[in-house]
Amino acid sequence: MKVGIIADLASDDMRAYAEAWAVQKVLKEFGITPIAVTHEIENTEEVNQEASEEKIEEKKGFKAKLKGLFGTKEKAAPAVKKREISEFAKARFVICNGTKEVGHEKGIWQNMDHYIVTDPRMKEELEKEEHFYHPLYQVKNAAMLINQKIYHELARKPELAKDYMLVDVKNLDNKTKHFIEHMATERGLAIVEKRTNPSIGKAVAQYQERDIEGYIGYIRYASCVVTDTYITTVMAFLHEKDFVSLVHNEEAEEIKEVLSLVKLSDHMVDPSVDAKKETSYLIQNKGEFRTAVKTARGEIKKSLGMELKLEQFNLYVDCPTNILRSECCGCSACKEVCPTNAIEMVADQEGFLYPVVDKDKCIDCKLCAKQCVKRDNPQTISYEKSYPKILCAMNNNEEERMNSSSGGVFPVLADYAINVMHGYVVGVRYDENMNAVADIADNMEDVKAFYGAKYVKSDFSHVFPKIKELLSEGKFVLYSGLPCEAAGLKAYLRKPYDNLFVTEILCHASPSPKVFKKYLEYLNKKFKSEVVDFNFRDKSEGWIAEHNSLKITFKNKKVIKVNARKNNYYRCFAKDYIARPACGQCSFVYKNRVGDITMGDFWGIRHTDPSMYDDKGTSIIMVNTKKGDEVFGAVADRFNYKESDLQTAFKYNHKKPIVIKDARDEFFKKLDKAPINDLLESYNDLAKK
Ligand SMILES: Cc1cc2nc3c(=O)[nH]c(=O)nc-3n(C[C@H](O)[C@H](O)[C@H](O)COP(=O)(O)OP(=O)(O)OC[C@H]3O[C@@H](n4cnc5c(N)ncnc54)[C@H](O)[C@@H]3O)c2cc1C
Ligand code: SF4
Ligand code: SF4
Ligand code: SF4
Repeated sequence: MKVGIIADLASDDMRAYAEAWAVQKVLKEFGITPIAVTHEIENTEEVNQEASEEKIEEKKGFKAKLKGLFGTKEKAAPAVKKREISEFAKARFVICNGTKEVGHEKGIWQNMDHYIVTDPRMKEELEKEEHFYHPLYQVKNAAMLINQKIYHELARKPELAKDYMLVDVKNLDNKTKHFIEHMATERGLAIVEKRTNPSIGKAVAQYQERDIEGYIGYIRYASCVVTDTYITTVMAFLHEKDFVSLVHNEEAEEIKEVLSLVKLSDHMVDPSVDAKKETSYLIQNKGEFRTAVKTARGEIKKSLGMELKLEQFNLYVDCPTNILRSECCGCSACKEVCPTNAIEMVADQEGFLYPVVDKDKCIDCKLCAKQCVKRDNPQTISYEKSYPKILCAMNNNEEERMNSSSGGVFPVLADYAINVMHGYVVGVRYDENMNAVADIADNMEDVKAFYGAKYVKSDFSHVFPKIKELLSEGKFVLYSGLPCEAAGLKAYLRKPYDNLFVTEILCHASPSPKVFKKYLEYLNKKFKSEVVDFNFRDKSEGWIAEHNSLKITFKNKKVIKVNARKNNYYRCFAKDYIARPACGQCSFVYKNRVGDITMGDFWGIRHTDPSMYDDKGTSIIMVNTKKGDEVFGAVADRFNYKESDLQTAFKYNHKKPIVIKDARDEFFKKLDKAPINDLLESYNDLAKK
């Protein structure tokens, strides 16, 4: 992969050197040797003039420097021919590829796979030349990519015996001078100024232009740093110096942002009004600061790796939530809260939806990260005393119970929402193409389509805004869904609503919609008719796992019924071969609940309390909140129920997330290659029994 780092390396801008150096270090860590492309922001006319001797010498030195910086240090820069120097001096674009190749032909750099820029001013400049530099990616805060130890490879120790304060200030008005002199006197420090002509009386040395080694050396050995430039601010904190950033430069906004990122906003001061006690310029909370730098560094590196589409960075979601793909449960909260609609949920090769950000629309507000249920916002309930209450229950209405997967709790709660509260019910049904989709119903006839578990991940987030609208109008809404989806809804709403009643179903894993779709296509073909209903929990032969049937209905009225455990799709679901990777790190297991009420199968009830077992379905009900208690109290007489306890209820249900097996990953690698039924069957240990 050919990657060009574009920077104004011919100027005396230490930022350009430091940032380009940091980026090339990290690229080499990724196994990429980048190409440095010097693009001068200013003086375009000057560089196009006939080359003067001075200019030639300057460029010659610069070329050697580039080789030293980006190539292998041991090799000396090759001799440069006079003609070449002359062309080089005139060139606006200069290319340096390690120690191998130097030139300024457009042909050399025009066909790179990626162009990287760090300075926002340079980005602006280059965007005007879009046809040359494409795709162009800006690495923000690039100097933070490496730590002080790595910068020390560059540092040259200053020849200065005294303790000193390094001053890199562009805007030296009288108040600033006074401020600096006062600080130096208070600390008994000499002043080293980054200027060729020192303008502070007490300055004892000047940092020389175009000397990155000297610059880093002066930072490294300084007792204290005062600056109004972005790069010296970053270098000062990376070296954990006692430092202060002054507010009056055109880079003030960028400085403010980076200081806030590393929790050092109090180091930015206005010298005319804000002269603080000297101790306040020390980094006070080093632990917090170091964590912030480490996190920021990881995120910058990750964004760069993802931009270059490096395999190891496919591990992360392409969204500012910055979580691993293996953690993302697809709850959609990030997409739904984004104020600029910058996030889309896009299916990956396995068929699961993940957020993908449109960087042009993203305003970097970080709201998505704040609301992400897999970061600090899981939405799980902190139990009040005497909760959760655990019940084992059977709906007294046998027809409803038989049409439901477990003990028929959901139909009763739905009926309460519709007929008592005159509200709405959110659930999952099949659409006309047999996709499992969330929908909102306001009558029991429509609610019936929600009965029964559909063992496939549904498409649900489109209902979130509508739910919010109903809640804002004061309507009662019963939400029913998987726990991670319920968490997504709560995160999206961002405030509690009295008229929202959240129910969740116990869930150990949700299968890929792509696998289900392929399996349906296989059935359509095999039975020469379209599947119009797929009941995963037909209880005509019984409810427990051994008796449970799959009932598949076709458009031509044909119905097939098979023992569920032996069915290829069902067995792969039950064995977790077709689960979303995040189910292996599910945050919503056992007592970590999101809903006012949780519903599940009371597996093992025939052993623990045979009086509550008739093989037609018994439910676990977890009442998690007072609201859950109130609603259950209102419908309790519609159940045959008993109190139970967590230990009994979860004796045969999962208490921990599933284990993602290697076989699962193997399955998905073969998904697009093998016929679906053959593939599912090869993972079905009961197929031939
Ligand atoms: C993917 C999945 C995994 C499950 N894993 C377990 C488990 O490990 N242990 C356990 O005890 N129970 C599990 N269940 C729950 C169980 O199968 C029943 O759905 C639950 O007990 C409710 O049954 P019920 O008889 O009260 O009502 P039912 O009438 O069966 O109600 C079903 C409810 O589930 C909702 N629903 C159906 N399919 C989906 C879907 N794909 N996504 C979101 N919501 C859906 C419906 O909207 C309805 O609210 C799982 C369900 C699903 C969908
Ligand atoms: S940072 Fe803000 S604008 Fe960008 S994707 Fe996240 S929520 Fe949307
Ligand atoms: S877990 Fe939810 S909020 Fe977090 S990235 Fe995934 S979809 Fe977005
Ligand atoms: S196991 Fe957890 S993460 Fe996976 S679908 Fe169920 S609730 Fe969501």
